[in-house]
Amino acid sequence: MKFATLAVHAGQDPDPRTGAVNVPVHFSSTFAQDGLGGLRQGFEYARTGNPSRQALEHTLAALEGGTYGLAFASGQAASTAVLDLLVPGDEIVTVPDIYGGSYRLFHRVFKKYDIRTVVAAASTPEAVRAALSPAASLVWIESPSNPLLNILDLEQVAEGLGPFRNATGERPVLLVDNTFASPALQNPLALGADLVAHSCTKYLGGHSDVVGGALVTNRKDLWERLKFYQNAAGGVPSPMDCYLLQRGIRTLPLRMKQHERNAFRVAKYLRGHSSVEQVFFPGFQEHPGHRTALKQMRGFPGMVSFRLRGGLDGVRHVFSRLRLILPAESLGGVESLACHPATMTHAAFPPDERLRVGITDNLVRLSLGIEDAEDLIEDLKYALG
Ligand SMILES: *Cc1c(COP(=O)(O)O)cnc(C)c1O
Repeated sequence: MKFATLAVHAGQDPDPRTGAVNVPVHFSSTFAQDGLGGLRQGFEYARTGNPSRQALEHTLAALEGGTYGLAFASGQAASTAVLDLLVPGDEIVTVPDIYGGSYRLFHRVFKKYDIRTVVAAASTPEAVRAALSPAASLVWIESPSNPLLNILDLEQVAEGLGPFRNATGERPVLLVDNTFASPALQNPLALGADLVAHSCTKYLGGHSDVVGGALVTNRKDLWERLKFYQNAAGGVPSPMDCYLLQRGIRTLPLRMKQHERNAFRVAKYLRGHSSVEQVFFPGFQEHPGHRTALKQMRGFPGMVSFRLRGGLDGVRHVFSRLRLILPAESLGGVESLACHPATMTHAAFPPDERLRVGITDNLVRLSLGIEDAEDLIEDLKYALG
């Protein structure tokens, strides 16, 4: 089936008992057994597995073209499960511009277990390959990246890792955080990734009403280890969270089209504004990743970043005058949001590191929602005035 059909139907079969067209929300922490050890539908305790989560996990796997899906209580809970694959002495290879929470997890949480993080000098396949050492066990990349919307050629990274073996004779696991593209626009497993991670809080949920995370893979060995951890550590979503995500996912393809339309309109407006120094939008032909994006993506998400003339004071001025676009963390919802990465999403970066990556004090990141572009532009016109 095509993507829009999968979004509506995958993992969302009518309830076999009642015919309900929505997956019932099973508020049950435990499941009655037939005598000793006789599981009726394979469920025993809801942390281990429950019908609401199982349905969502089928949906997530189908959308990424993967075999196995796992749902977590947040994107960070999903990331933690992946990092638990590592053992002391292992190295994570990553790129400079990744989500601030991932940076924090690597450098502030897993570092104390002697898991080191090597940041490749630049976001290119060559730089990723050059950063591989005999201890490299996990390669963690984002494309489009947060917040600068850099594009990394995923096939080239996967090909580059192909022949490499670490000290234990294994190829490092290649993880792509696909939150910004959403599965509607990009499927990293088909481009050679071993694992896809999502913050479902963003485009997948799409309505800013639920926090969730997901992992999808085709590798049974990885799935078994991650599933073990999911149950052992317990960072699972509630049945209500699973329902909200499935409900949101049904309109994902429709929403992404409007997000993209608004991003193009707003990016073009910003490019022509005298108070704007630079616009980052991979949909522009002059964006260095444009051709790669056309090759590996089916469109562009509603994300546009820009540098404002006037530094931090300029940003304060603009944020205080926005009336429709809300200053807030997060992205991917139906409502447009403005974020100041230096003090919000990427505050976990040390200041010098942040500047080196290009997250300057005058950088603003917009998540364009699904409103009418004219109203968004009107709002920006007033705020930038
Ligand atoms: C938000 C986000 C995360 C973390 O997800 P949570 O659901 O907030 O835990 C990870 N990666 C990216 C790219 C994100 O935007």
